[in-house]
Amino acid sequence: KHIVVGGGTGFIGSQLIKSLSLEGVSCTCISRMPGPNRISWNDLESYGLPENTSAVINVAGQNVLDPMQRWSPGFKQNVRNSRVKTTKALADAVKSTKATVFATISGVAYYKPNDTVYTEESKCEPYDFLSRLTHDWEEAAKLSEDCNIRQVTIRSGVVLGRSGGMIKQIYLPFFLGLGGPIGTGNQYMPWIHITDLVNMFTFALKNSNVHGILNGVAPQLITNKEFTKAFAVAMKRPAVMPLPSFVLQILFSEERAKIMLEGQKVIPKRVTEMGFQYQYPNIENACKQLV
Ligand code: NDP
Repeated sequence: KHIVVGGGTGFIGSQLIKSLSLEGVSCTCISRMPGPNRISWNDLESYGLPENTSAVINVAGQNVLDPMQRWSPGFKQNVRNSRVKTTKALADAVKSTKATVFATISGVAYYKPNDTVYTEESKCEPYDFLSRLTHDWEEAAKLSEDCNIRQVTIRSGVVLGRSGGMIKQIYLPFFLGLGGPIGTGNQYMPWIHITDLVNMFTFALKNSNVHGILNGVAPQLITNKEFTKAFAVAMKRPAVMPLPSFVLQILFSEERAKIMLEGQKVIPKRVTEMGFQYQYPNIENACKQLV
Protein backbone atom coordinates (compact mmCIF):
# COMPACT_ATOMS: atom_id res chain seq x y z
CA LYS A 1 0.00 0.00 0.00
CA HIS A 2 1.16 3.52 -0.73
CA ILE A 3 -0.74 6.62 0.28
CA VAL A 4 -0.22 10.15 -1.00
CA VAL A 5 -1.04 12.92 1.48
CA GLY A 6 -1.45 16.51 0.28
CA GLY A 7 -0.53 18.73 3.25
CA GLY A 8 1.16 15.78 4.95
CA THR A 9 3.62 18.11 6.70
CA GLY A 10 0.91 19.90 8.70
CA PHE A 11 -0.62 19.30 12.13
CA ILE A 12 -3.26 16.85 10.88
CA GLY A 13 -1.23 15.46 7.96
CA SER A 14 1.83 14.58 10.03
CA GLN A 15 -0.26 12.73 12.65
CA LEU A 16 -2.01 10.88 9.86
CA ILE A 17 1.30 9.81 8.29
CA LYS A 18 2.64 8.77 11.70
CA SER A 19 -0.38 6.57 12.30
CA LEU A 20 -0.25 5.04 8.79
CA SER A 21 3.48 4.36 9.15
CA LEU A 22 2.84 2.48 12.41
CA GLU A 23 0.56 0.21 10.39
CA GLY A 24 3.35 -0.36 7.88
CA VAL A 25 1.87 1.86 5.16
CA SER A 26 4.33 3.99 3.18
CA CYS A 27 3.38 7.58 2.33
CA THR A 28 4.41 10.39 0.01
CA CYS A 29 3.73 13.98 1.07
CA ILE A 30 2.85 16.76 -1.31
CA SER A 31 4.48 19.91 0.04
CA ARG A 32 5.73 23.29 -1.11
CA MET A 33 9.08 22.47 0.53
CA PRO A 34 11.37 19.72 -0.80
CA GLY A 35 12.34 16.83 1.46
CA PRO A 36 12.54 13.03 1.71
CA ASN A 37 9.39 11.18 0.60
CA ARG A 38 7.96 14.43 -0.77
CA ILE A 39 6.85 15.74 -4.11
CA SER A 40 5.78 19.30 -4.92
CA TRP A 41 2.45 20.49 -6.32
CA ASN A 42 4.35 21.30 -9.54
CA ASP A 43 5.64 17.70 -9.71
CA LEU A 44 2.05 16.53 -9.33
CA GLU A 45 0.96 18.70 -12.23
CA SER A 46 3.87 17.63 -14.45
CA TYR A 47 4.23 13.94 -13.64
CA GLY A 48 1.02 12.93 -11.88
CA LEU A 49 0.84 10.67 -8.81
CA PRO A 50 3.34 7.87 -8.05
CA GLU A 51 2.46 4.71 -9.97
CA ASN A 52 1.95 2.59 -6.85
CA THR A 53 -0.57 4.99 -5.25
CA SER A 54 -3.35 3.03 -3.52
CA ALA A 55 -5.14 5.96 -1.85
CA VAL A 56 -5.00 9.75 -1.86
CA ILE A 57 -5.77 12.11 1.01
CA ASN A 58 -5.82 15.91 0.99
CA VAL A 59 -5.42 17.90 4.20
CA ALA A 60 -3.58 20.92 2.74
CA GLY A 61 -4.65 24.47 3.51
CA GLN A 62 -3.08 27.76 4.51
CA ASN A 63 -3.79 28.50 8.19
CA VAL A 64 -6.83 30.83 8.23
CA LEU A 65 -6.20 32.00 11.79
CA ASP A 66 -2.56 32.99 11.35
CA PRO A 67 -2.45 36.19 13.46
CA MET A 68 0.56 37.43 11.47
CA GLN A 69 -1.47 37.57 8.27
CA ARG A 70 -3.78 40.46 7.54
CA TRP A 71 -7.18 39.37 6.20
CA SER A 72 -6.42 40.97 2.83
CA PRO A 73 -7.82 39.98 -0.58
CA GLY A 74 -4.43 38.41 -1.39
CA PHE A 75 -4.37 36.31 1.77
CA LYS A 76 -7.99 35.24 1.26
CA GLN A 77 -7.05 34.09 -2.24
CA ASN A 78 -4.20 32.02 -0.72
CA VAL A 79 -6.56 30.53 1.84
CA ARG A 80 -8.91 29.54 -0.95
CA ASN A 81 -6.41 28.30 -3.53
CA SER A 82 -4.48 26.23 -1.00
CA ARG A 83 -7.67 24.22 -0.43
CA VAL A 84 -9.71 24.31 -3.64
CA LYS A 85 -6.85 24.14 -6.17
CA THR A 86 -4.90 21.43 -4.33
CA THR A 87 -8.05 19.33 -3.96
CA LYS A 88 -8.95 19.80 -7.64
CA ALA A 89 -5.41 18.90 -8.73
CA LEU A 90 -5.60 15.67 -6.72
CA ALA A 91 -9.12 14.84 -7.92
CA ASP A 92 -7.84 15.15 -11.51
CA ALA A 93 -4.65 13.16 -10.84
CA VAL A 94 -6.24 10.32 -8.87
CA LYS A 95 -8.30 9.26 -11.90
CA SER A 96 -5.16 8.10 -13.74
CA THR A 97 -4.04 5.81 -10.90
CA LYS A 98 -5.17 2.46 -9.52
CA ALA A 99 -6.10 4.14 -6.21
CA THR A 100 -9.34 2.92 -4.66
CA VAL A 101 -10.02 5.77 -2.20
CA PHE A 102 -9.88 9.56 -2.33
CA ALA A 103 -10.40 11.22 1.07
CA THR A 104 -10.39 14.96 1.68
CA ILE A 105 -10.99 17.36 4.53
CA SER A 106 -13.40 20.29 4.72
CA GLY A 107 -14.85 22.24 7.61
CA VAL A 108 -18.00 22.77 9.66
CA ALA A 109 -18.11 26.36 8.37
CA TYR A 110 -20.29 24.61 5.76
CA TYR A 111 -23.15 24.95 8.27
CA LYS A 112 -24.64 28.30 9.26
CA PRO A 113 -24.37 29.02 12.99
CA ASN A 114 -27.89 29.10 14.45
CA ASP A 115 -30.08 26.83 16.56
CA THR A 116 -30.30 24.04 13.98
CA VAL A 117 -28.73 20.70 14.86
CA TYR A 118 -26.89 19.71 11.69
CA THR A 119 -26.21 16.21 10.39
CA GLU A 120 -24.35 15.25 7.24
CA GLU A 121 -27.67 15.28 5.41
CA SER A 122 -28.50 18.92 6.24
CA LYS A 123 -28.46 21.13 3.20
CA CYS A 124 -26.93 24.59 3.58
CA GLU A 125 -26.57 27.39 1.08
CA PRO A 126 -23.30 29.37 1.15
CA TYR A 127 -23.75 32.58 3.14
CA ASP A 128 -20.25 34.05 3.62
CA PHE A 129 -16.65 33.72 2.46
CA LEU A 130 -15.79 30.65 4.52
CA SER A 131 -19.02 28.79 3.87
CA ARG A 132 -18.64 29.43 0.13
CA LEU A 133 -15.09 28.16 0.44
CA THR A 134 -16.19 24.89 2.06
CA HIS A 135 -18.82 24.39 -0.65
CA ASP A 136 -16.26 24.96 -3.43
CA TRP A 137 -13.67 22.83 -1.60
CA GLU A 138 -16.09 19.89 -1.45
CA GLU A 139 -17.14 20.45 -5.06
CA ALA A 140 -13.48 20.34 -6.13
CA ALA A 141 -13.16 16.88 -4.54
CA LYS A 142 -16.05 15.37 -6.51
CA LEU A 143 -15.16 12.63 -8.97
CA SER A 144 -17.31 11.77 -11.95
CA GLU A 145 -20.04 9.14 -11.49
CA ASP A 146 -18.38 6.61 -13.80
CA CYS A 147 -15.18 6.74 -11.76
CA ASN A 148 -14.64 3.66 -9.57
CA ILE A 149 -12.80 5.48 -6.80
CA ARG A 150 -14.55 5.69 -3.44
CA GLN A 151 -14.80 9.27 -2.26
CA VAL A 152 -14.97 10.51 1.33
CA THR A 153 -15.01 14.08 2.68
CA ILE A 154 -14.62 14.75 6.39
CA ARG A 155 -16.20 18.06 7.50
CA SER A 156 -14.02 18.68 10.52
CA GLY A 157 -14.70 20.68 13.65
CA VAL A 158 -11.91 22.30 15.73
CA VAL A 159 -9.17 19.69 15.95
CA LEU A 160 -7.76 19.32 19.46
CA GLY A 161 -4.20 18.03 19.67
CA ARG A 162 -0.99 19.04 21.43
CA SER A 163 1.10 19.66 18.33
CA GLY A 164 -0.99 22.23 16.49
CA GLY A 165 -4.27 24.00 15.88
CA MET A 166 -6.20 25.69 18.68
CA ILE A 167 -4.53 23.96 21.65
CA LYS A 168 -1.08 25.06 20.57
CA GLN A 169 -2.35 28.67 20.41
CA ILE A 170 -4.05 28.71 23.81
CA TYR A 171 -1.68 26.50 25.82
CA LEU A 172 0.59 29.29 27.07
CA PRO A 173 -2.13 31.78 28.09
CA PHE A 174 -3.99 29.01 29.94
CA PHE A 175 -0.78 27.81 31.55
CA LEU A 176 -0.18 31.35 32.82
CA GLY A 177 -3.71 31.49 34.21
CA LEU A 178 -4.74 34.01 31.55
CA GLY A 179 -7.16 31.71 29.75
CA GLY A 180 -10.90 32.18 29.53
CA PRO A 181 -13.96 31.93 27.34
CA ILE A 182 -14.01 33.55 23.91
CA GLY A 183 -16.62 36.32 23.59
CA THR A 184 -19.71 35.28 25.56
CA GLY A 185 -18.55 31.65 25.55
CA ASN A 186 -22.12 30.62 24.73
CA GLN A 187 -21.32 29.74 21.10
CA TYR A 188 -21.22 26.04 20.26
CA MET A 189 -17.81 24.60 19.55
CA PRO A 190 -17.85 21.56 17.28
CA TRP A 191 -14.64 19.71 18.20
CA ILE A 192 -12.76 16.46 17.65
CA HIS A 193 -9.65 14.98 19.24
CA ILE A 194 -6.79 14.60 16.72
CA THR A 195 -6.62 10.84 17.44
CA ASP A 196 -10.27 10.45 16.47
CA LEU A 197 -9.87 12.53 13.32
CA VAL A 198 -6.86 10.46 12.24
CA ASN A 199 -8.75 7.25 13.07
CA MET A 200 -11.74 8.51 11.06
CA PHE A 201 -9.49 8.87 8.01
CA THR A 202 -8.04 5.36 8.45
CA PHE A 203 -11.57 4.01 9.09
CA ALA A 204 -12.59 5.58 5.76
CA LEU A 205 -9.59 4.06 4.00
CA LYS A 206 -10.24 0.55 5.33
CA ASN A 207 -14.01 0.21 5.10
CA SER A 208 -15.37 -0.07 1.60
CA ASN A 209 -18.90 0.88 2.73
CA VAL A 210 -17.75 4.36 3.86
CA HIS A 211 -18.35 7.08 1.29
CA GLY A 212 -19.61 10.64 1.01
CA ILE A 213 -19.72 13.26 3.75
CA LEU A 214 -18.74 12.51 7.36
CA ASN A 215 -19.02 15.11 10.11
CA GLY A 216 -15.60 15.08 11.75
CA VAL A 217 -16.87 16.03 15.19
CA ALA A 218 -17.20 14.33 18.59
CA PRO A 219 -20.71 13.15 19.47
CA GLN A 220 -20.85 15.52 22.48
CA LEU A 221 -22.19 19.04 21.79
CA ILE A 222 -20.42 21.64 23.92
CA THR A 223 -20.15 25.41 24.09
CA ASN A 224 -16.90 27.35 24.19
CA LYS A 225 -17.53 28.00 27.90
CA GLU A 226 -17.80 24.26 28.57
CA PHE A 227 -14.60 23.63 26.65
CA THR A 228 -12.82 26.39 28.60
CA LYS A 229 -13.90 24.85 31.89
CA ALA A 230 -12.80 21.33 30.92
CA PHE A 231 -9.44 22.58 29.65
CA ALA A 232 -8.83 24.73 32.74
CA VAL A 233 -9.66 21.82 35.07
CA ALA A 234 -7.28 19.55 33.15
CA MET A 235 -4.57 22.26 33.29
CA LYS A 236 -5.31 22.90 36.99
CA ARG A 237 -5.46 26.62 36.25
CA PRO A 238 -8.15 29.27 36.64
CA ALA A 239 -9.67 30.42 33.33
CA VAL A 240 -11.81 33.42 34.11
CA MET A 241 -10.29 36.05 31.81
CA PRO A 242 -12.74 36.36 28.94
CA LEU A 243 -11.31 37.27 25.56
CA PRO A 244 -13.65 40.07 24.42
CA SER A 245 -15.17 39.89 20.94
CA PHE A 246 -13.91 43.33 19.98
CA VAL A 247 -10.28 42.33 20.62
CA LEU A 248 -10.63 39.39 18.23
CA GLN A 249 -12.43 41.57 15.71
CA ILE A 250 -9.56 44.06 15.76
CA LEU A 251 -6.85 41.39 15.61
CA PHE A 252 -8.45 39.14 13.02
CA SER A 253 -11.10 41.31 11.31
CA GLU A 254 -14.78 40.57 11.71
CA GLU A 255 -15.07 37.88 9.05
CA ARG A 256 -12.30 35.76 10.57
CA ALA A 257 -13.20 36.47 14.19
CA LYS A 258 -16.58 34.86 13.44
CA ILE A 259 -14.84 31.47 13.29
CA MET A 260 -14.17 31.82 17.01
CA LEU A 261 -17.17 33.88 18.07
CA GLU A 262 -19.87 31.77 16.42
CA GLY A 263 -20.38 28.04 16.31
CA GLN A 264 -22.63 25.37 14.88
CA LYS A 265 -24.40 22.45 16.50
CA VAL A 266 -23.07 19.55 14.47
CA ILE A 267 -23.59 15.85 15.16
CA PRO A 268 -21.79 12.93 13.51
CA LYS A 269 -24.91 11.00 12.50
CA ARG A 270 -23.49 9.03 9.56
CA VAL A 271 -20.19 8.45 11.37
CA THR A 272 -21.89 6.68 14.27
CA GLU A 273 -24.31 4.83 11.97
CA MET A 274 -21.31 3.43 10.10
CA GLY A 275 -19.94 2.04 13.36
CA PHE A 276 -16.99 4.36 14.00
CA GLN A 277 -15.76 4.13 17.60
CA TYR A 278 -14.47 7.30 19.28
CA GLN A 279 -11.53 7.18 21.68
CA TYR A 280 -12.40 10.63 23.04
CA PRO A 281 -16.17 11.08 22.90
CA ASN A 282 -16.20 13.51 25.83
CA ILE A 283 -14.33 16.73 26.38
CA GLU A 284 -13.10 16.04 29.93
CA ASN A 285 -11.15 12.95 28.86
CA ALA A 286 -9.97 14.66 25.68
CA CYS A 287 -8.60 17.60 27.70
CA LYS A 288 -6.87 15.29 30.19
CA GLN A 289 -4.99 13.73 27.29
CA LEU A 290 -4.09 17.17 25.90
CA VAL A 291 -2.27 18.62 28.91
P1 NDP B 1 -1.45 23.20 9.21
O1 NDP B 1 -1.30 24.66 9.06
O2 NDP B 1 -0.76 22.52 10.34
O3 NDP B 1 -0.94 22.47 7.89
C1 NDP B 1 -1.33 22.94 6.67
C2 NDP B 1 -0.73 22.11 5.55
O4 NDP B 1 -1.15 22.70 4.33
C3 NDP B 1 0.75 22.06 5.57
O5 NDP B 1 1.13 20.73 5.38
C4 NDP B 1 1.21 22.93 4.40
O6 NDP B 1 2.18 22.24 3.63
C5 NDP B 1 -0.04 23.04 3.54
N1 NDP B 1 -0.20 24.42 3.05
C6 NDP B 1 -0.24 25.56 3.79
N2 NDP B 1 -0.40 26.62 3.00
C7 NDP B 1 -0.43 26.14 1.74
C8 NDP B 1 -0.53 26.77 0.46
N3 NDP B 1 -0.65 28.09 0.35
N4 NDP B 1 -0.54 25.97 -0.64
C9 NDP B 1 -0.42 24.63 -0.54
N5 NDP B 1 -0.30 23.98 0.64
C10 NDP B 1 -0.30 24.74 1.75
O7 NDP B 1 -3.01 22.89 9.19
P2 NDP B 1 -3.87 21.72 9.84
O8 NDP B 1 -3.13 20.44 9.70
O9 NDP B 1 -4.35 22.15 11.15
O10 NDP B 1 -5.14 21.72 8.86
C11 NDP B 1 -5.09 21.06 7.62
C12 NDP B 1 -6.39 21.27 6.86
O11 NDP B 1 -7.47 20.85 7.67
C13 NDP B 1 -6.65 22.72 6.47
O12 NDP B 1 -7.18 22.77 5.18
C14 NDP B 1 -7.69 23.17 7.47
O13 NDP B 1 -8.58 24.14 6.96
C15 NDP B 1 -8.45 21.87 7.73
N6 NDP B 1 -9.11 21.90 9.03
C16 NDP B 1 -8.34 22.06 10.16
C17 NDP B 1 -8.92 22.20 11.40
C18 NDP B 1 -8.12 22.39 12.66
O14 NDP B 1 -8.71 22.63 13.73
N7 NDP B 1 -6.79 22.27 12.61
C19 NDP B 1 -10.41 22.17 11.53
C20 NDP B 1 -11.12 21.96 10.30
C21 NDP B 1 -10.48 21.85 9.09
P3 NDP B 1 3.64 22.78 3.24
O15 NDP B 1 3.95 23.94 4.13
O16 NDP B 1 4.52 21.59 3.49
O17 NDP B 1 3.54 23.12 1.81
